[in-house]
Amino acid sequence: MELLELLKEKISSSTYPIALTGSEITLASGIPSFESNYLGYSLNEILSLEFSQKNYAIFLQTCFLISRWNKKKPNIFHNTLKKLDIPIITENIDMLHLKAGSTNVIQLLGNINDFICTKCSFTVPFYNTNKYFKNDNIPYCPVCNSPIKLNIILRGESCLNFNHALNEVYRADTLLVLGSNLERWPINKLVKIAQKQGSRIILYESDI
Ligand SMILES: [Zn+2]
Repeated sequence: MELLELLKEKISSSTYPIALTGSEITLASGIPSFESNYLGYSLNEILSLEFSQKNYAIFLQTCFLISRWNKKKPNIFHNTLKKLDIPIITENIDMLHLKAGSTNVIQLLGNINDFICTKCSFTVPFYNTNKYFKNDNIPYCPVCNSPIKLNIILRGESCLNFNHALNEVYRADTLLVLGSNLERWPINKLVKIAQKQGSRIILYESDI
């Protein structure tokens, strides 16, 4: 059965289904696993607050490497969810749901499009950061002179849009989970809340 028909069937009895997506659905677009090695460390290790504070140069270099994911294209999972036209809560930072044309997308962990200041709200597209580098090879904010970084949420930082995601979970009667191992807070918390209120949780597992 085609993925679209399969998922349609799974949510057919729902009045307000929503999707929760994680990194495994992006592998088919050529985005590497977070376990894979970057500059001697796994992405999981590098994208944490603690690591970024201790090894800023490696962290920054990795930010530029992963910002190249902006050339990747949506795959069958993103395109199918677009056709289902249901709200999507995602822990992915690659913006592939938006590229597929989905409009109701809640990005819990930011995205790879922009660099933001670590202190103020200055934001600049990643491809425009060159002019902000100083002699130490770190880009600085032109407004407050603090380092700027890729606009993604690191382990150890609070996620974005949590209340928005929570409102969708409260409203939903079905949670369709694709490609998330449900390990990371707050994704796991959202699922627990959905379970507690009696929502149906559908874990889509296949050869993703
Ligand atoms: Zn600033």
